[in-house]
Amino acid sequence: MEKDGGGVAAGEWRFQPNESLMAASSLSVRGVLTEIVANIDNESEDTRPRIPLGHGDASVFPCFRTAPEAVDAVVSALRSGQYNCYSPCVGLAPARRAIADYLSGDLPYKLSPDDVYLTNGCAQAIEIVVSVLARPGANILLPRPGYQFYAARAAYNGIEVRYFNLLPESQWEVDLDGLEALADENTVAMVIVNPGNPCGNTFTYQHLAKASSLLVANTAKKLRIMIIADEVYEHLTFGSNPFVPMGMFGDVVPVLTLGSISKRWVVPGWRLGWIVTNDPNGVLSQTKIVECLKNYLDISCDPATFVQGAIPQIIKNTNDDFLRHTISVLRQTADICYDKLKEIDCISCPSKPEGSMFVMVKLDLSRLEGIHDDMDFCSKLAKEELVIVLPGCTVGFKNWLRITFAVEPSSLEDGLERLKSFCSKHSKRSSSPAIRS
Ligand SMILES: *Cc1c(COP(=O)(O)O)cnc(C)c1O
Repeated sequence: MEKDGGGVAAGEWRFQPNESLMAASSLSVRGVLTEIVANIDNESEDTRPRIPLGHGDASVFPCFRTAPEAVDAVVSALRSGQYNCYSPCVGLAPARRAIADYLSGDLPYKLSPDDVYLTNGCAQAIEIVVSVLARPGANILLPRPGYQFYAARAAYNGIEVRYFNLLPESQWEVDLDGLEALADENTVAMVIVNPGNPCGNTFTYQHLAKASSLLVANTAKKLRIMIIADEVYEHLTFGSNPFVPMGMFGDVVPVLTLGSISKRWVVPGWRLGWIVTNDPNGVLSQTKIVECLKNYLDISCDPATFVQGAIPQIIKNTNDDFLRHTISVLRQTADICYDKLKEIDCISCPSKPEGSMFVMVKLDLSRLEGIHDDMDFCSKLAKEELVIVLPGCTVGFKNWLRITFAVEPSSLEDGLERLKSFCSKHSKRSSSPAIRS
Protein backbone atom coordinates (compact mmCIF):
# COMPACT_ATOMS: atom_id res chain seq x y z
CA MET A 1 0.00 0.00 0.00
CA GLU A 2 1.23 3.52 -0.86
CA LYS A 3 1.74 5.63 2.25
CA ASP A 4 0.50 9.21 2.16
CA GLY A 5 3.96 10.67 2.86
CA GLY A 6 2.86 12.11 6.19
CA GLY A 7 0.72 14.64 4.36
CA VAL A 8 3.74 16.18 2.59
CA ALA A 9 3.81 15.93 -1.22
CA ALA A 10 6.92 14.23 -2.63
CA GLY A 11 8.07 17.38 -4.44
CA GLU A 12 8.11 19.39 -1.23
CA TRP A 13 10.92 17.42 0.40
CA ARG A 14 14.38 18.91 -0.01
CA PHE A 15 15.92 15.59 -1.11
CA GLN A 16 15.59 14.17 -4.62
CA PRO A 17 17.00 11.06 -6.29
CA ASN A 18 20.24 11.41 -8.25
CA GLU A 19 18.96 11.70 -11.84
CA SER A 20 22.18 10.44 -13.44
CA LEU A 21 21.80 7.23 -11.46
CA MET A 22 18.24 6.74 -12.68
CA ALA A 23 19.46 7.10 -16.28
CA ALA A 24 22.41 4.74 -15.83
CA SER A 25 20.39 1.89 -14.36
CA SER A 26 18.17 1.70 -17.44
CA LEU A 27 21.24 0.17 -19.13
CA SER A 28 21.46 -2.69 -16.66
CA VAL A 29 21.35 -6.28 -17.90
CA ARG A 30 20.17 -7.47 -14.51
CA GLY A 31 17.12 -5.20 -14.69
CA VAL A 32 16.10 -6.57 -18.09
CA LEU A 33 16.59 -10.19 -17.02
CA THR A 34 14.43 -9.59 -13.94
CA GLU A 35 11.74 -8.19 -16.22
CA ILE A 36 11.94 -11.24 -18.49
CA VAL A 37 11.83 -13.74 -15.63
CA ALA A 38 8.78 -11.91 -14.25
CA ASN A 39 6.82 -13.29 -17.24
CA ILE A 40 7.12 -16.80 -15.86
CA ASP A 41 3.91 -17.86 -14.20
CA ASN A 42 4.89 -19.24 -10.80
CA GLU A 43 1.54 -21.04 -10.48
CA SER A 44 1.97 -22.89 -13.78
CA GLU A 45 1.79 -26.70 -14.03
CA ASP A 46 5.05 -26.69 -15.97
CA THR A 47 7.55 -28.36 -13.65
CA ARG A 48 10.50 -28.40 -16.07
CA PRO A 49 13.64 -26.72 -14.74
CA ARG A 50 14.37 -23.15 -15.80
CA ILE A 51 17.34 -22.91 -18.12
CA PRO A 52 19.41 -19.76 -17.57
CA LEU A 53 21.08 -18.86 -20.88
CA GLY A 54 20.84 -15.17 -20.09
CA HIS A 55 23.56 -13.88 -17.84
CA GLY A 56 26.84 -15.72 -17.69
CA ASP A 57 27.52 -17.22 -14.29
CA ALA A 58 29.05 -20.60 -14.94
CA SER A 59 29.91 -21.12 -11.26
CA VAL A 60 26.48 -22.61 -10.51
CA PHE A 61 27.18 -25.68 -12.69
CA PRO A 62 29.18 -28.67 -11.40
CA CYS A 63 31.25 -28.93 -14.61
CA PHE A 64 32.61 -25.42 -13.98
CA ARG A 65 33.45 -25.85 -10.28
CA THR A 66 36.59 -23.89 -9.45
CA ALA A 67 39.98 -25.53 -8.89
CA PRO A 68 40.36 -27.19 -5.48
CA GLU A 69 43.79 -25.49 -5.19
CA ALA A 70 42.06 -22.10 -5.33
CA VAL A 71 39.69 -23.08 -2.54
CA ASP A 72 42.61 -24.40 -0.45
CA ALA A 73 44.46 -21.12 -0.97
CA VAL A 74 41.54 -19.12 0.43
CA VAL A 75 41.10 -21.51 3.35
CA SER A 76 44.79 -21.26 4.28
CA ALA A 77 44.71 -17.49 3.96
CA LEU A 78 41.82 -17.38 6.40
CA ARG A 79 43.36 -19.93 8.79
CA SER A 80 46.66 -18.03 8.90
CA GLY A 81 44.99 -15.16 10.75
CA GLN A 82 47.17 -12.72 8.78
CA TYR A 83 44.43 -11.30 6.61
CA ASN A 84 41.82 -10.05 9.03
CA CYS A 85 43.17 -6.53 8.63
CA TYR A 86 42.42 -3.68 6.21
CA SER A 87 44.57 -3.81 3.11
CA PRO A 88 46.50 -0.94 1.50
CA CYS A 89 44.30 1.00 -0.97
CA VAL A 90 46.27 -0.26 -3.97
CA GLY A 91 46.17 -3.89 -2.73
CA LEU A 92 48.51 -6.22 -0.82
CA ALA A 93 52.06 -6.21 -2.19
CA PRO A 94 52.44 -10.02 -2.64
CA ALA A 95 49.14 -10.15 -4.56
CA ARG A 96 50.22 -7.28 -6.84
CA ARG A 97 53.52 -9.00 -7.49
CA ALA A 98 51.86 -12.35 -8.25
CA ILE A 99 49.47 -10.72 -10.76
CA ALA A 100 52.30 -8.72 -12.37
CA ASP A 101 54.32 -11.93 -12.86
CA TYR A 102 51.31 -13.87 -14.08
CA LEU A 103 50.43 -11.28 -16.75
CA SER A 104 54.07 -10.67 -17.71
CA GLY A 105 54.22 -14.26 -18.92
CA ASP A 106 52.34 -13.18 -22.08
CA LEU A 107 54.19 -9.90 -22.66
CA PRO A 108 57.46 -8.82 -24.32
CA TYR A 109 58.38 -6.73 -21.23
CA LYS A 110 58.02 -7.26 -17.49
CA LEU A 111 55.31 -5.60 -15.43
CA SER A 112 56.21 -4.26 -12.02
CA PRO A 113 54.01 -4.86 -8.95
CA ASP A 114 53.43 -1.09 -9.00
CA ASP A 115 51.64 -1.45 -12.34
CA VAL A 116 48.90 -3.48 -10.64
CA TYR A 117 45.96 -2.08 -8.64
CA LEU A 118 43.52 -4.48 -7.01
CA THR A 119 39.78 -3.94 -7.33
CA ASN A 120 36.46 -5.47 -6.37
CA GLY A 121 36.25 -7.58 -9.51
CA CYS A 122 36.57 -6.27 -13.03
CA ALA A 123 33.32 -4.35 -12.55
CA GLN A 124 34.92 -1.99 -10.04
CA ALA A 125 37.94 -1.69 -12.33
CA ILE A 126 35.56 -0.37 -15.03
CA GLU A 127 33.90 1.98 -12.55
CA ILE A 128 37.28 3.42 -11.53
CA VAL A 129 38.75 3.78 -14.99
CA VAL A 130 35.66 5.51 -16.38
CA SER A 131 35.56 7.88 -13.38
CA VAL A 132 39.24 8.70 -13.71
CA LEU A 133 38.74 9.73 -17.35
CA ALA A 134 35.60 11.77 -16.72
CA ARG A 135 36.05 15.43 -17.50
CA PRO A 136 33.53 17.89 -18.91
CA GLY A 137 32.98 17.32 -22.61
CA ALA A 138 34.94 14.06 -22.80
CA ASN A 139 33.74 11.20 -24.96
CA ILE A 140 34.66 7.53 -24.99
CA LEU A 141 34.48 4.98 -27.81
CA LEU A 142 32.63 1.78 -26.99
CA PRO A 143 32.02 -1.32 -29.10
CA ARG A 144 28.57 -2.15 -30.39
CA PRO A 145 27.37 -4.72 -29.63
CA GLY A 146 29.01 -4.40 -26.24
CA TYR A 147 29.09 -4.95 -22.53
CA GLN A 148 26.77 -2.18 -21.40
CA PHE A 149 28.27 -1.70 -17.96
CA TYR A 150 30.69 0.75 -19.64
CA ALA A 151 27.82 2.78 -21.06
CA ALA A 152 26.07 2.77 -17.68
CA ARG A 153 29.17 4.03 -15.86
CA ALA A 154 29.78 6.63 -18.58
CA ALA A 155 26.19 7.87 -18.28
CA TYR A 156 26.61 8.11 -14.52
CA ASN A 157 29.84 10.10 -14.92
CA GLY A 158 28.45 12.35 -17.64
CA ILE A 159 30.85 11.12 -20.34
CA GLU A 160 29.45 11.02 -23.84
CA VAL A 161 29.49 7.58 -25.45
CA ARG A 162 30.22 7.05 -29.14
CA TYR A 163 29.80 3.58 -30.57
CA PHE A 164 32.02 1.92 -33.12
CA ASN A 165 30.74 -1.20 -34.80
CA LEU A 166 31.90 -4.76 -34.51
CA LEU A 167 31.33 -6.45 -37.84
CA PRO A 168 29.34 -9.71 -37.68
CA GLU A 169 30.44 -10.81 -41.14
CA SER A 170 34.15 -10.34 -40.30
CA GLN A 171 34.41 -12.39 -37.09
CA TRP A 172 33.24 -9.33 -35.16
CA GLU A 173 36.37 -7.32 -35.91
CA VAL A 174 36.35 -3.60 -35.16
CA ASP A 175 35.16 -1.37 -38.01
CA LEU A 176 38.42 0.55 -38.06
CA ASP A 177 37.36 2.88 -40.87
CA GLY A 178 34.30 3.97 -38.94
CA LEU A 179 36.39 4.46 -35.82
CA GLU A 180 38.42 7.30 -37.33
CA ALA A 181 35.31 9.24 -38.23
CA LEU A 182 33.98 8.95 -34.66
CA ALA A 183 36.93 10.33 -32.72
CA ASP A 184 37.67 14.00 -32.17
CA GLU A 185 39.80 16.14 -29.82
CA ASN A 186 37.53 15.28 -26.88
CA THR A 187 37.87 11.52 -27.31
CA VAL A 188 39.83 10.07 -24.39
CA ALA A 189 39.78 6.30 -24.78
CA MET A 190 38.62 3.30 -26.72
CA VAL A 191 37.37 0.11 -25.06
CA ILE A 192 38.34 -3.28 -26.46
CA VAL A 193 36.85 -6.41 -24.91
CA ASN A 194 38.88 -9.47 -25.87
CA PRO A 195 37.89 -12.32 -25.85
CA GLY A 196 34.55 -10.71 -26.53
CA ASN A 197 31.37 -10.38 -24.56
CA PRO A 198 28.76 -10.51 -26.12
CA CYS A 199 30.22 -11.76 -29.43
CA GLY A 200 32.38 -14.71 -28.35
CA ASN A 201 35.18 -13.62 -30.70
CA THR A 202 38.95 -13.55 -30.21
CA PHE A 203 40.88 -10.81 -32.01
CA THR A 204 43.99 -11.73 -34.01
CA TYR A 205 47.40 -10.20 -33.33
CA GLN A 206 47.24 -8.41 -36.69
CA HIS A 207 43.90 -6.81 -35.95
CA LEU A 208 44.99 -5.53 -32.54
CA ALA A 209 48.23 -4.21 -34.03
CA LYS A 210 46.30 -2.34 -36.68
CA ALA A 211 43.85 -0.87 -34.15
CA SER A 212 46.60 0.29 -31.79
CA SER A 213 48.72 1.91 -34.50
CA LEU A 214 45.67 3.66 -35.90
CA LEU A 215 45.09 5.38 -32.56
CA VAL A 216 48.53 6.93 -32.56
CA ALA A 217 50.12 6.85 -35.98
CA ASN A 218 47.19 8.36 -37.80
CA THR A 219 48.98 11.60 -38.68
CA ALA A 220 46.01 13.44 -40.11
CA LYS A 221 43.92 13.29 -36.97
CA LYS A 222 46.44 12.38 -34.26
CA LEU A 223 43.90 10.55 -32.19
CA ARG A 224 46.29 10.12 -29.24
CA ILE A 225 43.85 8.23 -27.06
CA MET A 226 44.39 5.33 -24.69
CA ILE A 227 43.04 1.83 -24.89
CA ILE A 228 41.03 0.26 -22.10
CA ALA A 229 41.50 -3.46 -22.64
CA ASP A 230 38.89 -5.60 -20.88
CA GLU A 231 40.54 -9.01 -20.69
CA VAL A 232 38.34 -10.58 -18.09
CA TYR A 233 38.06 -13.67 -20.38
CA GLU A 234 41.83 -13.93 -20.92
CA HIS A 235 42.85 -17.41 -22.06
CA LEU A 236 39.26 -18.63 -22.31
CA THR A 237 39.68 -19.28 -26.03
CA PHE A 238 38.92 -22.45 -27.97
CA GLY A 239 39.08 -21.55 -31.66
CA SER A 240 41.93 -20.92 -34.07
CA ASN A 241 43.03 -17.53 -32.67
CA PRO A 242 45.11 -17.63 -29.49
CA PHE A 243 44.54 -14.93 -26.87
CA VAL A 244 46.78 -11.90 -27.44
CA PRO A 245 46.91 -9.33 -24.64
CA MET A 246 46.53 -5.69 -25.70
CA GLY A 247 49.53 -4.94 -23.47
CA MET A 248 51.64 -6.31 -26.35
CA PHE A 249 51.14 -2.88 -27.92
CA GLY A 250 51.73 -0.85 -24.74
CA ASP A 251 54.79 0.78 -26.29
CA VAL A 252 52.69 2.05 -29.20
CA VAL A 253 49.70 3.30 -27.24
CA PRO A 254 49.12 3.39 -23.45
CA VAL A 255 46.89 0.54 -22.32
CA LEU A 256 44.94 0.05 -19.11
CA THR A 257 44.26 -3.66 -18.85
CA LEU A 258 41.31 -4.75 -16.74
CA GLY A 259 40.83 -8.28 -15.50
CA SER A 260 39.75 -10.50 -12.64
CA ILE A 261 39.73 -14.06 -11.39
CA SER A 262 35.93 -14.17 -11.90
CA LYS A 263 35.87 -15.89 -15.27
CA ARG A 264 39.10 -17.85 -15.61
CA TRP A 265 38.76 -19.32 -12.13
CA VAL A 266 34.94 -19.25 -12.31
CA VAL A 267 34.57 -17.46 -8.97
CA PRO A 268 32.68 -14.23 -9.70
CA GLY A 269 31.53 -14.13 -6.09
CA TRP A 270 35.10 -13.75 -4.78
CA ARG A 271 35.24 -10.19 -6.15
CA LEU A 272 38.87 -9.86 -7.00
CA GLY A 273 39.99 -7.93 -10.06
CA TRP A 274 42.67 -5.55 -11.24
CA ILE A 275 43.66 -2.52 -13.25
CA VAL A 276 47.10 -2.82 -14.84
CA THR A 277 49.10 -0.05 -16.51
CA ASN A 278 50.69 -1.48 -19.66
CA ASP A 279 52.76 1.56 -20.44
CA PRO A 280 56.53 1.10 -20.88
CA ASN A 281 56.84 4.76 -22.01
CA GLY A 282 55.37 6.14 -18.80
CA VAL A 283 52.61 8.15 -20.53
CA LEU A 284 50.05 7.35 -17.86
CA SER A 285 52.26 8.75 -15.07
CA GLN A 286 53.19 11.85 -17.08
CA THR A 287 49.55 12.62 -17.75
CA LYS A 288 48.76 12.04 -14.02
CA ILE A 289 46.28 9.29 -14.82
CA VAL A 290 48.11 7.02 -12.37
CA GLU A 291 47.92 9.62 -9.61
CA CYS A 292 44.22 10.11 -10.22
CA LEU A 293 43.67 6.35 -10.15
CA LYS A 294 45.37 6.14 -6.74
CA ASN A 295 43.24 9.03 -5.51
CA TYR A 296 40.14 7.13 -6.52
CA LEU A 297 41.35 4.02 -4.68
CA ASP A 298 41.89 6.15 -1.57
CA ILE A 299 38.17 6.90 -1.42
CA SER A 300 36.73 3.51 -2.43
CA CYS A 301 36.38 0.05 -0.86
CA ASP A 302 39.08 -2.59 -1.24
CA PRO A 303 38.54 -6.24 -2.17
CA ALA A 304 38.40 -8.61 0.84
CA THR A 305 41.90 -8.91 2.31
CA PHE A 306 41.84 -12.71 2.65
CA VAL A 307 41.12 -13.16 -1.06
CA GLN A 308 44.03 -10.81 -1.82
CA GLY A 309 46.11 -12.88 0.59
CA ALA A 310 45.23 -16.06 -1.29
CA ILE A 311 46.11 -14.71 -4.77
CA PRO A 312 49.78 -15.78 -4.90
CA GLN A 313 48.83 -19.36 -4.02
CA ILE A 314 45.78 -19.36 -6.32
CA ILE A 315 48.00 -18.40 -9.25
CA LYS A 316 50.95 -20.61 -8.31
CA ASN A 317 49.09 -23.76 -7.29
CA THR A 318 46.24 -24.00 -9.77
CA ASN A 319 46.92 -26.98 -11.94
CA ASP A 320 46.99 -26.44 -15.73
CA ASP A 321 44.47 -29.25 -15.98
CA PHE A 322 41.86 -26.96 -14.49
CA LEU A 323 42.12 -24.41 -17.32
CA ARG A 324 42.34 -27.20 -19.90
CA HIS A 325 39.17 -28.75 -18.49
CA THR A 326 37.26 -25.44 -18.46
CA ILE A 327 38.27 -24.76 -22.04
CA SER A 328 37.36 -28.23 -23.19
CA VAL A 329 33.88 -27.94 -21.67
CA LEU A 330 33.43 -24.50 -23.26
CA ARG A 331 34.58 -25.84 -26.64
CA GLN A 332 32.08 -28.69 -26.32
CA THR A 333 29.18 -26.42 -25.28
CA ALA A 334 30.05 -23.84 -27.98
CA ASP A 335 29.86 -26.68 -30.53
CA ILE A 336 26.53 -27.90 -29.16
CA CYS A 337 25.22 -24.35 -29.32
CA TYR A 338 26.41 -23.61 -32.83
CA ASP A 339 25.18 -26.92 -34.27
CA LYS A 340 21.77 -26.70 -32.62
CA LEU A 341 21.23 -23.06 -33.63
CA LYS A 342 21.87 -24.01 -37.27
CA GLU A 343 18.74 -26.19 -37.12
CA ILE A 344 16.54 -23.23 -36.23
CA ASP A 345 15.10 -21.37 -39.23
CA CYS A 346 14.38 -17.98 -37.70
CA ILE A 347 17.84 -17.67 -36.12
CA SER A 348 21.19 -17.15 -37.81
CA CYS A 349 24.62 -17.17 -36.31
CA PRO A 350 27.22 -15.21 -38.34
CA SER A 351 30.26 -16.67 -36.66
CA LYS A 352 31.08 -19.54 -34.42
CA PRO A 353 32.18 -18.49 -30.93
CA GLU A 354 35.91 -18.86 -30.29
CA GLY A 355 36.23 -17.36 -26.83
CA SER A 356 34.45 -16.15 -23.69
CA MET A 357 31.06 -17.71 -22.91
CA PHE A 358 28.64 -16.09 -25.36
CA VAL A 359 27.32 -16.13 -28.87
CA MET A 360 25.32 -13.46 -30.69
CA VAL A 361 22.58 -14.63 -33.05
CA LYS A 362 20.21 -12.73 -35.31
CA LEU A 363 16.45 -13.13 -35.18
CA ASP A 364 14.52 -13.19 -38.43
CA LEU A 365 11.24 -11.69 -37.25
CA SER A 366 9.71 -11.96 -40.72
CA ARG A 367 9.52 -15.71 -40.20
CA LEU A 368 7.75 -15.41 -36.85
CA GLU A 369 4.08 -14.86 -36.16
CA GLY A 370 3.01 -12.44 -33.44
CA ILE A 371 6.51 -11.60 -32.10
CA HIS A 372 7.26 -7.88 -32.30
CA ASP A 373 10.89 -7.69 -31.31
CA ASP A 374 13.74 -9.30 -29.35
CA MET A 375 12.33 -8.28 -25.97
CA ASP A 376 8.94 -9.79 -26.86
CA PHE A 377 10.69 -12.95 -28.10
CA CYS A 378 12.62 -13.35 -24.82
CA SER A 379 9.56 -12.64 -22.65
CA LYS A 380 7.42 -15.23 -24.46
CA LEU A 381 10.26 -17.76 -24.53
CA ALA A 382 10.64 -17.43 -20.76
CA LYS A 383 6.90 -17.75 -20.19
CA GLU A 384 6.29 -20.69 -22.52
CA GLU A 385 9.54 -22.67 -22.31
CA LEU A 386 11.21 -21.44 -19.08
CA VAL A 387 14.34 -20.62 -21.06
CA ILE A 388 15.97 -17.28 -20.35
CA VAL A 389 18.08 -15.55 -23.00
CA LEU A 390 19.19 -11.93 -23.27
CA PRO A 391 17.58 -9.64 -25.85
CA GLY A 392 20.13 -7.98 -28.13
CA CYS A 393 18.73 -4.51 -27.37
CA THR A 394 20.52 -4.71 -24.00
CA VAL A 395 23.88 -4.99 -25.79
CA GLY A 396 23.06 -2.41 -28.45
CA PHE A 397 21.96 -4.83 -31.20
CA LYS A 398 18.19 -4.82 -31.50
CA ASN A 399 16.49 -8.00 -32.69
CA TRP A 400 19.48 -10.14 -31.96
CA LEU A 401 19.94 -12.44 -28.95
CA ARG A 402 22.90 -13.12 -26.71
CA ILE A 403 23.06 -16.72 -25.56
CA THR A 404 25.54 -18.05 -23.03
CA PHE A 405 26.84 -21.57 -23.47
CA ALA A 406 28.70 -21.70 -20.14
CA VAL A 407 26.08 -24.12 -18.93
CA GLU A 408 26.05 -27.81 -18.03
CA PRO A 409 25.95 -29.60 -21.44
CA SER A 410 22.73 -31.50 -20.69
CA SER A 411 20.91 -28.31 -19.61
CA LEU A 412 22.20 -26.50 -22.67
CA GLU A 413 20.84 -29.21 -24.98
CA ASP A 414 17.52 -29.13 -23.18
CA GLY A 415 17.36 -25.31 -23.39
CA LEU A 416 18.24 -25.19 -27.08
CA GLU A 417 15.71 -27.91 -27.89
CA ARG A 418 13.05 -25.82 -26.17
CA LEU A 419 14.22 -22.74 -28.08
CA LYS A 420 13.85 -24.69 -31.29
CA SER A 421 10.33 -25.86 -30.50
CA PHE A 422 9.36 -22.33 -29.45
CA CYS A 423 10.52 -21.02 -32.82
CA SER A 424 8.68 -23.70 -34.77
CA LYS A 425 5.51 -23.12 -32.74
CA HIS A 426 5.63 -19.42 -33.61
CA SER A 427 6.83 -19.71 -37.18
CA LYS A 428 4.70 -18.24 -39.96
CA ARG A 429 2.60 -20.80 -41.79
CA SER A 430 3.35 -19.09 -45.12
CA SER A 431 6.94 -20.20 -44.93
CA SER A 432 5.86 -23.83 -44.98
CA PRO A 433 6.18 -25.62 -48.34
CA ALA A 434 2.48 -26.61 -48.35
CA ILE A 435 1.36 -23.16 -49.51
CA ARG A 436 3.93 -22.85 -52.26
CA SER A 437 1.46 -23.41 -55.14
C1 LIG B 1 31.83 -10.38 -16.29
C2 LIG B 1 32.45 -9.22 -16.96
C3 LIG B 1 33.01 -8.18 -16.20
C4 LIG B 1 32.89 -8.11 -14.71
O1 LIG B 1 33.72 -9.01 -14.09
P1 LIG B 1 33.73 -9.20 -12.49
O2 LIG B 1 35.11 -9.60 -12.19
O3 LIG B 1 32.74 -10.26 -12.19
O4 LIG B 1 33.35 -7.90 -11.88
C5 LIG B 1 33.65 -7.16 -16.88
N1 LIG B 1 33.72 -7.13 -18.22
C6 LIG B 1 33.15 -8.09 -18.99
C7 LIG B 1 33.26 -8.01 -20.46
C8 LIG B 1 32.49 -9.16 -18.38
O5 LIG B 1 31.89 -10.09 -19.12
